[in-house]
Amino acid sequence: MDFTFRHRVLILGTGGTIAGVAESSAQHTGYRAAALSVEQLVAAVPALAGFDLETRQVAQVDSKNMSYAIWTDLHAAVVAALGDGQLDGIVITHGTDTLEETAYFLARILVTAKPVVLTAAMRPATAVSADGPQNLLDAVQLATNASAAGVRVCMHGQVFAGYAVRKRHPYAVDAFTSSRERSATMEEGFYTTPAALPEPIPFEPDLPWPWVEAVSNAAGQDGRTVDALVAAGVQGLVVAATGNGTLSDALLEAVRRAQKAGVEIVVVSRCAEGHIVGQPEHGLPVLGVTAAQARVELLLLIRWKQAMQRARAAAKQRG
Ligand code: ASP
Repeated sequence: MDFTFRHRVLILGTGGTIAGVAESSAQHTGYRAAALSVEQLVAAVPALAGFDLETRQVAQVDSKNMSYAIWTDLHAAVVAALGDGQLDGIVITHGTDTLEETAYFLARILVTAKPVVLTAAMRPATAVSADGPQNLLDAVQLATNASAAGVRVCMHGQVFAGYAVRKRHPYAVDAFTSSRERSATMEEGFYTTPAALPEPIPFEPDLPWPWVEAVSNAAGQDGRTVDALVAAGVQGLVVAATGNGTLSDALLEAVRRAQKAGVEIVVVSRCAEGHIVGQPEHGLPVLGVTAAQARVELLLLIRWKQAMQRARAAAKQRG
C-alpha cells in the first residue's frame, strides 16, 4: 500500500492556448487553441506525478468565445469541488484573452477558504519553449498552499489577485499585470493600500443574463452610440473614461439620459494602468478595474437586482 502523502488538486480544463497546437514548434501565432485535453496537459508535465490530481474538462474553447453558459458550468464545478474536504485546491486552465473576466467573475461570487488558481499560456503546447507546462506546475503548487486562499491567477512565475488581473500584452509571455497589487501608493496625499474586495455578490445560475455593453470616451465622442444602445434596450453600460474619469460633455449628457432611462452605469479609466483616483465631478459610480471586468460587475449586479425583484414578487404573492 502507498502511504506517501500527496496533495489533492482538481484541474478544470476550459481550453485556450495552453491546450493549443501549431504546425511547427517555431509557430507562436496562427495555431489552433483548445486542441488538447486537460489530461494531455497534465501528462506533459512529469513533475505533476507527485500530486494526487483529478481532472475535468468543463469546456474546450478559445477563450475569445468564453460564454455565460461556460461560466455557469464552471461556477457549479468549483462550488461542488470546494465542498470536497479532501481537496487542497482547484486549478482552472483557460485562454489568456478573457482570463481577466473569468477570474473577476469567480472572485466576485465565490466565498472560498481554498486557493482557486487560474492559469494559461501565451505559447501553444507545441512551441519550442512553451510556457504552459511551467505555468500549470506553478498553479498546482500554488493550489496546495492554504495561505493563497481565494481566486488567483498564476502566470509566468507571478501570482495576481483574480479581481485585479489584466492582460497587458498580446504576445509576450509576461502578458499579465495587476491594477492593484503594488503594496501601496500615495494618491492626493493619501497613503492608499490595495482596496479590499467588496462582499461577494450572490450568484443564482438560473437567471437570464442581461445585456451590458462598454463604450469609450474619445476625441470627437458625441454620445450617439449610447443613445442607440439605450433605444435598442441595453441594460448596463460601462463607460471607459479618458484619464482620471473624464467624459466629453456630449457623452456625459448621453450617459445621464441613459441613467434616467434606468440603465446601470459604471465608469472606469481607459488608461492601460492604474485606476480613477477620487470621485470625478460628474458623480457617476466609478470602479477601479478594467472595462471588461466592470462589464462582469454590471452583469452580476443587474442579475442580483433581478433576483431581489423576483424574491419580493414571490413574497407579495404569498401575502
Ligand atoms: N485566443 C487564445 C485564448 O484566449 C489566446 C490564449 O490563450 O493565449 O484562448
